[in-house]
Amino acid sequence: MHKIDIDLVEMTLDVMKYTIDRISNVTPELGVPRKEEDLFEEIGETITPKGIGGEVAFNMFRDVLVKATVPIDHPRHLAFVPAAPTRAAIMFDLVTSASSIHGAYWMEGAGGIFCENQAMKWLVSLTGLPKDSFGVFTSGGTAANLSAMVAAREAWRKKSSDNIGVRALLLTSNGAHSSIQAMAKVMDADVVMIDCQDENLRGHALESAIEELEEKDRKRLFAVVATGGTTNAGIIDELDSIAKVCQREDIWFHVDAAYGGGALAAPSVRHLFNGIEQADSITIDPHKWLFSPYDCGAVIYKNMALAAEAHSQKGSYLEIFKEPGAEGFNPADYQIQLTRRLRGMPLWFSLAMHGTDKYRDSIERGIELAQIAAKKIEEADNLELVRPASLSVVLFRRKGWTAEDYRDWTYRNHKSGLALVTPTKWKGESGYETISRFCFINPETTEEDIDVILATMN
Ligand SMILES: *Cc1c(COP(=O)(O)O)cnc(C)c1O
Repeated sequence: MHKIDIDLVEMTLDVMKYTIDRISNVTPELGVPRKEEDLFEEIGETITPKGIGGEVAFNMFRDVLVKATVPIDHPRHLAFVPAAPTRAAIMFDLVTSASSIHGAYWMEGAGGIFCENQAMKWLVSLTGLPKDSFGVFTSGGTAANLSAMVAAREAWRKKSSDNIGVRALLLTSNGAHSSIQAMAKVMDADVVMIDCQDENLRGHALESAIEELEEKDRKRLFAVVATGGTTNAGIIDELDSIAKVCQREDIWFHVDAAYGGGALAAPSVRHLFNGIEQADSITIDPHKWLFSPYDCGAVIYKNMALAAEAHSQKGSYLEIFKEPGAEGFNPADYQIQLTRRLRGMPLWFSLAMHGTDKYRDSIERGIELAQIAAKKIEEADNLELVRPASLSVVLFRRKGWTAEDYRDWTYRNHKSGLALVTPTKWKGESGYETISRFCFINPETTEEDIDVILATMN
């Protein structure tokens, strides 16, 4: 028997009380960042030979440090891509940690991987990919994109011995997320960026871009990366026509739907993704629009065997017992990580508890909030839409404002604790312009929240 440790009991109560308070609070204080020197002055050294004690450390976090962070689930946090993890998912994130499951191999993680795969089965069903397509949860969209791009590159190398030792090249568009270029760098692959009007890639533009490649570059072309909901504007590339070009040219077709993927569950916009069912791989971030806590991404493959050829690690200490029950789905075989958290488990629990209809409705609400905000903007004399709302993103301008005005406005609202809405840039007829942007995720954001924010632009 363990001796009951009073400190441990108290610490557990503190943690549970904090967690319950935090997830019950629908408008947590909108913290602001502080200088490291300031924080150090207030907190002092925390790592000492004897330890400062759980109570002291916990109070420092609760009373000072967490206030220097921005709660991404605040209903008036409409910057970047916010998040809104369900309470069920957050609680089950604690359970995931407490259960100490190694998520690389079925042998150790079977029960947990079973949960992840249940959630994955639903995700894959949203894509319409053929039978036997499947996926695995990753740390996020960046890791999912890298895993897919490596699988694509390895498949291309396997196609011909001419491709071995040759630097690979991929095509994408100016709407692609920065992680595509960053991960191409990790792979030491080249990127040709197609400059598309409205950051929207279509089949014919892809066709022309391929025709314009020099013969030697055409031979290095291993993948096309389209975006299923650009991070900046929520625009979905013309996936159907792009898929046709990729098929004809025999090129791996990856769809990065890290942000937009949640909207596959929304009937009102599902048709915009037509063609995604022809992808070779897809990235979706449950920590964006599927209400999972950080971090949780997903990569889905049409052909799992190709992913395994690229990612499966071999090592004498990795020999898995060939026992019935120990053989099964090994997440380590399909993405870049070996030891991994079972980060799909919070999504599984929340989906199991609430049902998929609740997810559909919560995602539709984000889309609806964007439509409502767009209407309010159209009706206001001092505001105008830059383009129609797309998915849950609204791009708009305050007439007469300069880039500095947008920046000052952002700081003012953040510092006062009202809202976090950051500016972005959009390419118009006369070059790049600084504008304002809303991205809705949290279904608990209200129309009044939108009114209050827009009123500060008067
Ligand atoms: C957010 C995003 C990513 C990066 O995902 P992380 O989870 O931040 O690594 C990649 N692609 C798109 C389209 C995104 O919106």
